[in-house]
Amino acid sequence: MLNYRLSREEMVLTQLERRGIHDERVLNAMRKVKRHHFVEPAFRDRAYDDTPLPIDEGQTISQPYVVARMTGLLEIQPTDKALEIGTGSGYQAAVLAELCHKVFSIERHMNLLQKARQALDEQGYANVVLKQGDGTIGWAEFAPFDKIIITAAAPKFPKTLFSQLKDGGLMVFPMGEKRTQDLVLVQRSGEEAMMKEVGQVAFVPLVGREGWPNST
Ligand code: SAM
Repeated sequence: MLNYRLSREEMVLTQLERRGIHDERVLNAMRKVKRHHFVEPAFRDRAYDDTPLPIDEGQTISQPYVVARMTGLLEIQPTDKALEIGTGSGYQAAVLAELCHKVFSIERHMNLLQKARQALDEQGYANVVLKQGDGTIGWAEFAPFDKIIITAAAPKFPKTLFSQLKDGGLMVFPMGEKRTQDLVLVQRSGEEAMMKEVGQVAFVPLVGREGWPNST
């Protein structure tokens, strides 16, 4: 039986700090969230490995480094209301929930959403609100959001989601049509999007009205 707490400490040191992530709040959230409760039981012993892992519906739980990096880029504040597109396992939502006031997260697969809800409830994350649907059209009822994170690859700029971002707010997402995509950070300034490419990532596709067509 692995000592998961020790595995998390090691993950933070070797995968995050040594790769330049030094935001203490983000590091503490990564130390705290029990990733092994968000992976499939068959992969539990690999929960803190430096890799994405398969979840249902042919999807993945992202690599810890990518979760920490995207979270850090959002400069989350305790009062923030954040929107995540692509709940997947619920792990990224839990990391955000450690740092901000409320997390809204949308997942297109009901099966994943139900498992994520169960894991989040068991871990006591009462400040995460989930819904099943097409996240590319956002969640107008609760907009505007201080921060938006898309954890699937958008083929083009997500206009509707941008329209649901607060003035001055930050949005981070992978964008591109290839197997690896640009990680893009956007700050809203009035109607303008100030965009920056901040690295390369490899995400599954964002499928929906303003994403890729649904082929399943
Ligand atoms: N953030 C997740 C986690 O912590 O486990 C990992 C997300 S996984 C890389 C991408 C997820 O985006 C998949 O679960 C996929 O079903 C979902 N997805 C893709 N397109 C979507 C859309 N239009 N709306 C909502 N979810 C979508």
